[in-house]
Amino acid sequence: MGPTDLQLQRLPQQPDAGAYLAAVVGSSNDAVIGLAPNATITVWNSAAEEIFGYTAAEVLGQPAAILVPEELRSEAVHMLARVRLGEHVHDLETVRLRKDGTRINVSLTVTPIRNQAGAVVGALKITRDVTEQKLTEEMAAQLRLAIEATPSGIVMIDDRGTIRMVNSQLERLFGYERTELLGQSIEMLLPNRYRTSHPGQRAMYFASPSVRAMGHGRDLFARRKDGTEFPVEVGLNPAKTAEGTFVLAAVIDITERKRMEIELARVHTDLREHAHKLEVTVAERTAHLQQTIAELESVSYSLSHDLRGPLRTIQGFSQIVLADAAERLLPEERDFLTKTINAANRLDRLIQDVLTYTRVSRQNVVLHPVDVEALVRQIIEERPEFQRPKAEILIASPVEPVHGHDASLTQVITNLLDNAVKFIPPDRLPQVRIRSEVRDRLVDLWFEDNGIGIPEEALGRLFAIFQRVHDEKHYPGTGIGLAIVRKAVERMNGSVRVESQPGQGSRFCVTLPRAQCL
Ligand code: ADP
Repeated sequence: MGPTDLQLQRLPQQPDAGAYLAAVVGSSNDAVIGLAPNATITVWNSAAEEIFGYTAAEVLGQPAAILVPEELRSEAVHMLARVRLGEHVHDLETVRLRKDGTRINVSLTVTPIRNQAGAVVGALKITRDVTEQKLTEEMAAQLRLAIEATPSGIVMIDDRGTIRMVNSQLERLFGYERTELLGQSIEMLLPNRYRTSHPGQRAMYFASPSVRAMGHGRDLFARRKDGTEFPVEVGLNPAKTAEGTFVLAAVIDITERKRMEIELARVHTDLREHAHKLEVTVAERTAHLQQTIAELESVSYSLSHDLRGPLRTIQGFSQIVLADAAERLLPEERDFLTKTINAANRLDRLIQDVLTYTRVSRQNVVLHPVDVEALVRQIIEERPEFQRPKAEILIASPVEPVHGHDASLTQVITNLLDNAVKFIPPDRLPQVRIRSEVRDRLVDLWFEDNGIGIPEEALGRLFAIFQRVHDEKHYPGTGIGLAIVRKAVERMNGSVRVESQPGQGSRFCVTLPRAQCL
């Protein structure tokens, strides 16, 4: 008979020992279950009630099999058979059923009960609920796996700075074997220059541990087994356990990141230098171009201006000769003179347009609010070709005022209306509609005509100088009017565009800043 065997049948003769035993069984945290040889339940303490959910009254006399899941019944039968033969069962990890059908992980210890003759007359089963313990173990195992799998080096130290755990990434980072690290001081992983100050800093951290990055923004370095150093980032995580406070440090090698940062900074500097050089070059070239343009404009202005003098002489004298000597001239000579006068008139128009273009480019433009509607009415009033019966110009009142320049805007409106009444089939009355549309801080001024329209492919080049789409014979012109429009609009910080339906009409849109928004 083993030392732990119980001889229950002796208990009635030893009341003190029985009371003692009853007290132990009653106060045990483990379920104590007595079994008769036929495996019915004979003892059921309060811990058993707690763990299994049955009261003693419910289970006493019941077969112990009610506590065993179906698939484990044979294991239980086998175990009891062993106990009946006098064997002990120690810490058998298995599963049992509670009254509500849920399963619990248990650890069983079963002891045979013998009578005085030494025959086994029952069994005492001590059952410990290890569900929570199992969970904790499983979690710890998973945590270990997770720590092993993390790409950072992980080291755990205690409050004396002793290394208690490392993962394989940390071994790789520092070039040490795990066995060389465990039990050693964490300072072995630091460059010599930090080794004296570190224990103090460590103590301070342990005094009020928190989850944070180490170093407070300083550059940190670690030291490999071979003495070489590398820049690191270290995250600190305190963990309070029954054994005391530990700190889990995650170490990341940031050599590559640092290299990239330096490289990036270099690229940035290069880029800045490049951008600066480019700006200087562009500024120089722009200044040079502006000067060239100004010179060219000035040349073309004086040239155009000077050309008008001799041209007037040609026009004047040709007209005098034609008027005074008409009868003495042959019809052929009269025709030559007429052609000369026409050519001189055309040249004069061209010169005047070029002069207008250069004037628009060069004149000082000071912007102010302009009452577009009044301006349009005034332009129409001054030009009979914009009035009935020659044309119908409709103003969709009110027209939104813009921030612009009177003279430039007069030029723009006049040129657009000139074209609107000019590019029209001979049998059609020109009808033009002028309206405004407010778009936030901008105003679109629309000029819509019912003219011959513009083919799609010509729309893109219409505002360049000397661009003409329709034939000179039916629609004479210089090709400068729309270039003047664009130049004038741009000088008022605006833009111009056109849409057209060939054969039906065109819509020109001048966009300018809204007057009251400035
Ligand atoms: P110009 O009127 O002296 O020919 P512009 O620069 O004013 O020169 O116009 C350029 C060309 O654009 C014109 O020759 C014409 O072909 C076309 N165009 C301009 N306005 C209209 C319009 N309202 N309808 C049709 N075509 C137009």
